[in-house]
Amino acid sequence: MTTVTEHLEALLERIVPVDTVTVPLSEAHGLVLTQDVTSPVDLPRFANSAMDGYAVLSSEIAEASPESPQLVPVRGDIAAGDGQPHTHRPGTCWRILTGAPVPEGCDAVVRVEDTDGNPHEVLIKAAVEAGANVRPAGEDVRAGAVILRAGTRIGPTQLAVLAAAGVAQVSVTGPVRVAVLSSGDELVPVGEPVGPGQIHDSNGPMLAALVRAAGHFAVHAGHLPDDAKAVSKEIEHHQDYADLVITTGGVSKGGSYDAVKAALTGAGSMEFTEVSMQPGKPQGFGLLGKREVPVFTLPGNPVSVLVSFEVFVRPALAARAGMRYSPVTMPAVVAQGWSSPEGRQQYHRVRLSRDVSGSYAAEPVSGPGSHLVGGLAQADGLAVIPAEVTEVATGSQVLVLPLRPVAEIEADLQAARQDGDGDAADGAGRGQGAR
Ligand code: AMP
Ligand code: MG
Repeated sequence: MTTVTEHLEALLERIVPVDTVTVPLSEAHGLVLTQDVTSPVDLPRFANSAMDGYAVLSSEIAEASPESPQLVPVRGDIAAGDGQPHTHRPGTCWRILTGAPVPEGCDAVVRVEDTDGNPHEVLIKAAVEAGANVRPAGEDVRAGAVILRAGTRIGPTQLAVLAAAGVAQVSVTGPVRVAVLSSGDELVPVGEPVGPGQIHDSNGPMLAALVRAAGHFAVHAGHLPDDAKAVSKEIEHHQDYADLVITTGGVSKGGSYDAVKAALTGAGSMEFTEVSMQPGKPQGFGLLGKREVPVFTLPGNPVSVLVSFEVFVRPALAARAGMRYSPVTMPAVVAQGWSSPEGRQQYHRVRLSRDVSGSYAAEPVSGPGSHLVGGLAQADGLAVIPAEVTEVATGSQVLVLPLRPVAEIEADLQAARQDGDGDAADGAGRGQGAR
């Protein structure tokens, strides 16, 4: 059997990022830059006031103090957005608002709090240093400087600097469009009635959400019948536009009933592999069609699908999108042990809590069956148990791959702790760490 690492490395070797495209900033969120971006302008663009106050030449009010305020005529107001070419006239000042251009010849701004606020003749009660309360042009970014490096993923703050610099479009690795196809004659889309022997498709909605939550685009979620010819035809269609295809079901050892395997055996570079993991043993991967679209054929059971996505598809999607990816695991102490099959890397559903020492405690949720979707929904993460381990002892340490954002898990643990404190207060009185 192939190990998880071998299978992952082999498939990642074959995955290249999708083509570079130029997109307007409004479509750039979440995509990865393929070129360095330089700023065409200084940021700030011009010297502007950091405060509401009075723009002065600092040397002219050097003697001002609370005891001997200085009366200075005000030439007018300068608000943010004022485009007039204002200049300083000796012995006067301008009333100025935050973000407004500092007039030529003024070198500082006196805060309104250090004046009487008069709009015509202001009493200035404090001296200021040259440069005080002025944001100089180019202080943040110099025109011509690199503001973002190739390989950077564009998040909210990256959008902010691009917009501030007036960069209206960027070259990025294109959005990764994913087709999700659930195979099985027993499947009915949620919302439609199920007949005898039928079940609702739960893999489709789960995978589409996983794809979206990872920052990609689930552009199609559909169905494949248990008929090899029909499967081939349908997958050929998706090869034409999708950047990655994920199928579920139809790849175990059921012969002609396993229509996905039957349809794709020998197609493109498809290979069907037994990976030494639990769950998720039957894996298929290859590049199909002239666009060499990566196709993942995952097993059918929902837990196997989830594990396969986390272990193989998520890194592949990241590579396709030009993103760097490395799984983050959380160390946790096993609250209640379980067993693990010899020679297979196990991914065991666990719920996390805090133990008395403040570390994470991992407790198994639901049974071992890969069909247990109710239990799956209760899990915070997957404890990753190396192939050689057969007994996961209570009190031992495991690494947990989170299934939800860690901040969300943390928030729930904190809420649970507060509830616990509240209960303690009702009874024996509030105490630190009371549970
Ligand atoms: P298969 O590998 O096609 O035999 O599927 C294995 C098990 O997973 C069977 O019990 C299927 O009914 C179930 N299954 C397959 N696809 C889905 C799906 N999209 N949603 C829920 N269960 C599924
Ligand atoms: Mg099936």
